[in-house]
Amino acid sequence: MNAQTLETGRTDSGTAGIALAVLAGIFLLVVSGFAQATVLHDAAHDQRHAMAFPCH
Ligand SMILES: [Zn+2]
Repeated sequence: MNAQTLETGRTDSGTAGIALAVLAGIFLLVVSGFAQATVLHDAAHDQRHAMAFPCH
């Protein structure tokens, strides 16, 4: 019983660490995704104006 309780506690802290790592990974993915979207948007934006395409 006692060993199982200790094991469960260890598993919980391990899960929290993994969850933090996953959250950090998702955060980096979202940030880099937004940065890439901005670069792509700017490139398409310049292209649209180069072709005299009104966009705003
Ligand atoms: Zn524009």
